[in-house]
Amino acid sequence: MRLKTKLSLGLGFLFVVILSFGIISLWYINRLSNDAENVLTNNHESLVYANNMLKALETIPIRKDAMQLFDDNLKKQEANITEIGERDATLELRKNFDELRVNPADPSNYPEIRQSLIRIQDINEMAILRKNAVAEKTASSARLWLTLIFTVLTLVSFSFIFNLPGVIAGPIRSLAEGIEEIANKNYGKRIFLKQEDEFGDLAAAFNSMAEKLDGYEHSSIAELQFEKSRIETIINQMRDGIIGFDTKRNILFINVVAQHLLGVKEPDVIGKYAPDIALRNDLMRTLLQPDISKKDLKIYADNKESYFSRDVLSVTSKDEVIGQVIVLRNITLFHELNEAKTNFIATVSHELKTPISSIKMSARLLTDERNGALDDNQRELIHSIRDDADRLLKITGELLNMAQVETGNIQLKLQPTPPADIVQQALLAVQFQAQQSGIVVRTQLQPNLPRISVDAEKTTWVLINLLTNALKYSNPPATVEVETQRRDGEVVFSVRDYGKGIEEKYLPRIFDRYFKVPGSQAGGGTGLGLAISREFIESQGGAIQVVSTPGEGSTFSFAFKI
Ligand code: ADP
Repeated sequence: MRLKTKLSLGLGFLFVVILSFGIISLWYINRLSNDAENVLTNNHESLVYANNMLKALETIPIRKDAMQLFDDNLKKQEANITEIGERDATLELRKNFDELRVNPADPSNYPEIRQSLIRIQDINEMAILRKNAVAEKTASSARLWLTLIFTVLTLVSFSFIFNLPGVIAGPIRSLAEGIEEIANKNYGKRIFLKQEDEFGDLAAAFNSMAEKLDGYEHSSIAELQFEKSRIETIINQMRDGIIGFDTKRNILFINVVAQHLLGVKEPDVIGKYAPDIALRNDLMRTLLQPDISKKDLKIYADNKESYFSRDVLSVTSKDEVIGQVIVLRNITLFHELNEAKTNFIATVSHELKTPISSIKMSARLLTDERNGALDDNQRELIHSIRDDADRLLKITGELLNMAQVETGNIQLKLQPTPPADIVQQALLAVQFQAQQSGIVVRTQLQPNLPRISVDAEKTTWVLINLLTNALKYSNPPATVEVETQRRDGEVVFSVRDYGKGIEEKYLPRIFDRYFKVPGSQAGGGTGLGLAISREFIESQGGAIQVVSTPGEGSTFSFAFKI
């Protein structure tokens, strides 16, 4: 049964009971009141009239108005005949009274008159008693019915008090619990109500909603899981090692390559605080170092040395950093190719050195007078052969040095050296070239400079290279200045030229391997001189730098701590 019907029926029943209770009560009250009124008007008044007539009768001989008083009461009595037998008694009274009126001095009628009055009184008293008995019966019947109805009403009310809250509150409680479960994402929650009323409909609607939410959640979870496993598969199949962290540096994911490199298993590290793992894992410690060193990482894996570059990427969402990803890019192949190239260059340069030297030697022998006189033309040709051989020797020397640098095989012979020796050696080497080019090389050596612990040969090589460049990029007649001085606990060597200078945008790349400023002297060098210089200086613990202004010249300097 519908809740609405139940409530309508219950309240309707109560309404009917209350209505009938009221009607019956009113009916009984009305009836009792009518009975009382009847007794008062019909019988009590007759008793009063009879009483008055009796009193008047007694005073007839002594009071003049007694006869009139009697007659008035008799008339009233005649108008108030209500009981059986009362009429006869009243008629008889009238007859006797009329006879008395004819002869008021004759008291022989008195006993009949008194008899009639007593009869009237008796009839009315009897009627009062009878009506009282009827009223009592009515009152007890009213009591019975009203008690009965009151009892039924009380029972029904009790049943309502006990059942109605349960009927309404029970399903509402179940629904409230269900809604709370749904709010807590327990979409498996269902409500079972047996009743087929509005609450039953509500429970069915709730269950259908929960089912749809359940289905939706499962479908989106399945979709998310599919996407997750797809991304995991992609990450796992990559040749690069990938590790993901959240903002608190807990590990979120690590692919197979990274697990292999770090020598860890996924379940052992997922969700763990990375610095904790770094305590017992050297590679993790290196990876977490904040300074992003550009040096490649050499890792021993798969029974061979592999090279990886480390990229640290910040993962952002809506302009907020939500984590970090470290990508270990496998660059072993590039290393192997580079190594092969370096070996090739080293071998070729080495092999070329001997024939070039013998070409140089042959060219010098040709200029010897003992081998016959040469005309100017021939001398110039031989001169050109010697220049080219020199340049070739320089190039092969640089290539060899570079190969040495790239393979990490720089052999340093560090020994305390006076800075002046290095400057002198370098000046000797470039003297001829300077003279030929018409460039004056000025030196400024601070006296009493301390010895510095360097590889004299390599440091001289660097100074020669800087001087050669300064001569090469000056516009003769010009001056090149070499200066050596002590500054801030360092011995600084600097070479200043007043040549074309270098544009600012090229300065950061000037020490890179094979870099040449675009448009600089055609047929020039290899672009290796400054790269080798930097390697030589830095491997000895020194630093090299350049300051240059286009059109005004450049100053290259290197410094060693004392
Ligand atoms: P290269 O053997 O080609 O001279 P370097 O490594 O010595 O190679 O120099 C690299 C480049 O730097 C040169 O090609 C040149 O463009 C520029 N450079 C070097 N020194 C100077 C200088 N003193 N003035 C202007 N440019 C220079």
